[in-house]
Amino acid sequence: MNDRVVLVTGGLGGIGSAIAKRFAADGFRVALNDVADDATGNAAAEALGPACGYFRGDLTAEDGPAAVVAAVKSRFGRLDVLVNNAGIQRVSPVVEFDTADWGRVLALNLSAAFAATKAALPGMTAAGWGRIINIASAHGLVASPFKAAYVAAKHGLVGFTKTVALEVAEMGVTANAICPGYVRTALVERQIEDSAAAHHMSREQVVRDVILAAQPTRRFIEPEEVASLAAYLATDAARSITGAAIAIDGGWTAR
Ligand code: NAD
Repeated sequence: MNDRVVLVTGGLGGIGSAIAKRFAADGFRVALNDVADDATGNAAAEALGPACGYFRGDLTAEDGPAAVVAAVKSRFGRLDVLVNNAGIQRVSPVVEFDTADWGRVLALNLSAAFAATKAALPGMTAAGWGRIINIASAHGLVASPFKAAYVAAKHGLVGFTKTVALEVAEMGVTANAICPGYVRTALVERQIEDSAAAHHMSREQVVRDVILAAQPTRRFIEPEEVASLAAYLATDAARSITGAAIAIDGGWTAR
């Protein structure tokens, strides 16, 4: 058991819940944020352990991220690791891309990470130790068709991560972006459906010819693999890794 506190946004989702479980196993007190009702969120937090809690909040609301960070600090007295994980995807050609959807993707995948980081950093720099871990994507490094908002937001998140890293480099705080390839979560399941429509393919063809074709390993990445990398970035051994965009993508971006 260590005394440290981690906040995982989107902590009830596929990757977020794996990260939360891993940090709980490593002895952190875990604060889960998501949009689900309190009963669902509290049950997930209780399953992680008695020192964990649920902080319901829509991070696309103007004061959403700052309010969640403030609530975590008020309950636990500190916040040492922020995992900006909440994200959504929309799949559509640019010329048909719904403008409101563009705004939603940018608001959650990019602006919420900015606002949460802004709220979390002062406590970390004052303590002389902290970790900002942004769950970006292989789409933060390379593009694919029909994902304009997501690719723009994730490239933006990688740039934001680098900027934060430089600003706090001498203060014991690191900021890194994890860039996963395809992980089979609810986000990807929905995307298979939407990509099938956009590419005029069947679901099976999308999995074989679009998704797994991108990853030389020809397999999905497990949420626990992403969680292990996040857990490592939160250790003291990783103190010199900062401003990095680390691919965990089965070789996708090696091409
Ligand atoms: P997921 O849909 O399983 O989980 C996302 C979680 O975010 C959900 O629990 C959802 O309720 C929550 N959420 C949605 N809107 C929210 C809001 N306004 N405020 C707070 N929480 C909100 O998706 P996932 O695959 O676990 O994705 C997690 C992160 O990993 C995302 O940032 C995603 O872009 C990134 N990512 C996923 C993959 C993949 O293949 N699954 C690959 C690369 C990157």
